[in-house]
Amino acid sequence: MQCLACHEPHPAGRRPDAAIAVFVAGDEVIFSYWRCAACGAFSVEAWHDRFLGDADAHWIGPVSAEVGERCLALVAACPSPQDKLCGCPSHRALYTGLPG
Ligand SMILES: [Zn+2]
Ligand SMILES: [Zn+2]
Repeated sequence: MQCLACHEPHPAGRRPDAAIAVFVAGDEVIFSYWRCAACGAFSVEAWHDRFLGDADAHWIGPVSAEVGERCLALVAACPSPQDKLCGCPSHRALYTGLPG
């Protein structure tokens, strides 16, 4: 995995800065937010676990540092980011992975 903005590779074994699970049309989607140590931009992984069929993942971004930090703050404000059925304002804001 590398930064979508500057293509700097993220160090092996690194964990995302934040992650949140959402429930979209019967499927679970996990968004993971990765801040680039080199340029500060964010790359967002969308991991889609399909109820019918195989899981797939794709990357969204690059996302500006400003928007990325907002995502981290939203995830931090959620009482249970791993709970895809959580209905808090953060979960609603990050329904598509990025705040609207
Ligand atoms: Zn970068
Ligand atoms: Zn929540």
